[in-house]
Amino acid sequence: MTGLVIVGHGTRSAAGVEQFAALVERVRGRGDIGDVEGGFIELSRPPLTDAVGALVARGHRALVALPLVLTGAGHGKGDIPAAMAREQQRHPGLSYRYGRPLGPHPLLHEALEQRIDAALAGADRAGTGLAGADRAGTEPAGADRAGTWVALIGRGSTDPDANAEVAKVARLLWEGRGYAGVEPGFISLASPSVPAVLERLRRLGARRIVVAPYFLFAGVLPDRIVAQSAEFAAAHPDLDVRVAEVIGDCDTLADLVLERYAEALGGDIRMNCDTCAYRVLMPGFADKVGRPQRPHDHPDDPVGHHHHHGHDHHDHGHDHGSVAVVGGGPGPDDLITVRAKALLDAADVVVVDRLAPQGLLAGLRPDVLVVDAAKVPRGPSMAQEAINEALVSHARAGRRVVRLKGGDPYVFGRGHEEVQACVAAGVPVTVVPGVSSALAAPALAGVPVTHRGVAHDVTVVSGHLPPGHPDSLVDWAALARARGTVVLLMAVDTIGKIASVLIEHGRAPETPVLAVQDAGLPDQRSVPARLDEIGAVAAREGVGPPAVFVLGPVVALTTTGPTA
Ligand code: SAH
Repeated sequence: MTGLVIVGHGTRSAAGVEQFAALVERVRGRGDIGDVEGGFIELSRPPLTDAVGALVARGHRALVALPLVLTGAGHGKGDIPAAMAREQQRHPGLSYRYGRPLGPHPLLHEALEQRIDAALAGADRAGTGLAGADRAGTEPAGADRAGTWVALIGRGSTDPDANAEVAKVARLLWEGRGYAGVEPGFISLASPSVPAVLERLRRLGARRIVVAPYFLFAGVLPDRIVAQSAEFAAAHPDLDVRVAEVIGDCDTLADLVLERYAEALGGDIRMNCDTCAYRVLMPGFADKVGRPQRPHDHPDDPVGHHHHHGHDHHDHGHDHGSVAVVGGGPGPDDLITVRAKALLDAADVVVVDRLAPQGLLAGLRPDVLVVDAAKVPRGPSMAQEAINEALVSHARAGRRVVRLKGGDPYVFGRGHEEVQACVAAGVPVTVVPGVSSALAAPALAGVPVTHRGVAHDVTVVSGHLPPGHPDSLVDWAALARARGTVVLLMAVDTIGKIASVLIEHGRAPETPVLAVQDAGLPDQRSVPARLDEIGAVAAREGVGPPAVFVLGPVVALTTTGPTA
């Protein structure tokens, strides 16, 4: 039977986490679904990746993922699917059906009604605010409804469609239930605020108001609803203001989860695309159209993006972009690090170098913007500045940018210039080291850059400037005197001159050299020569970039055959 993963956002409230766990347990206890796990995308344990991992470990390859959210806003529309996409990359072959947000649904209205009735218990019939303890339990709550106004308080979103859903629930809650009226309000990001909606009800003549949090579980925001309601009540002693409980772990909610599960498997699930801010331009929300979605990083998730919210709750548009300057290894798809691959999988924008592993680009999600750094406009001298600008501006627009470079970003990769540009711009930036061609190309060609008893040093040198060039920072004479291994990068045009200068200052003319071209790629080839002949041989053989030259006694140890 298809397993169910219930996906929560996460909260700083221990009570909220407990209620979530209790609901997962309740759904599991129903026994209708063979295998149920719950996990969070942020803030709380267990992380989603553990929940999915547990189901996969028990043999599940197809799941229902149910976002435990009331309305379809950013978390349900973007963050949770993006987190699931990452799980699919972690578990090749994993498929899932995505459930609908819980609301609006009659079961939720029922639960809200019960919470409102519970808050009304003990209220005096006339709605004077003088609670008649003698009447408690003797009057059906319905008797008080006509004198009761309800303020239904949603979490509030930058997504107008999600706010509209709360207004819809308010209307549906009012229909046929006999309350004086139900007005929607929001605790964050949207209007009217809690004090504003309470004031509105006061002016409409309300004497008794039940503030009903449209929230699944306890949390920082429901606590804030209680505090703001209490403040309003204290300022208006003539009013009877009560706050209902959150929906919480209950059988009604478990019923709804089971219904959404069944619907995900057998139903026709559609998002409300007509009023989706990500595709329709709505007044004031133009910035959302086409915005890429990306997963949150749970602190326990090994992506390691250090995305910690320093404030109460991230009630903003998730606009924190970042840059990762990532080493892609020498060229083949599978010589990249696991960390680099995870970041690549989560990227919105990839700015890629010619020597970076091009094969990995095919595996990016179709909505990822790939920028070819070799083709950034402006002349070559300005190119680096244009790249830096691109990194900073995409990150500032809230995107996750991966700067994918060949080899290691700090080995002749200008990676640190990009890091400095991000730091100067205040954009969060991380570096992911890579397998440098300086070490990988010799290894892939069968040359150990060090070997016991043969070479105790290896020097990596850029040959892009010939010896004697006024801008050269290399002490060629010292390299000539040293006995160990020298690896030359970017030296295809200068190798002849470099060899002469090394011999001039003392390296033996018969020192073995190996040119390794296209290391790790299908066209990889090696061209061996003595130091005094390498210039001529490389030219005759047409050695071209990318190639490294490795020279020194270790080259005599070159293995050929299966490993070469
Ligand atoms: N940051 C990169 C190096 C960038 S400089 C790294 O750490 O590998 C570019 C030079 O790297 C090329 O001129 C060539 O000398 C070397 N290079 C990069 N990829 C290579 C490959 N697959 N095979 C051989 N040399 C390579």
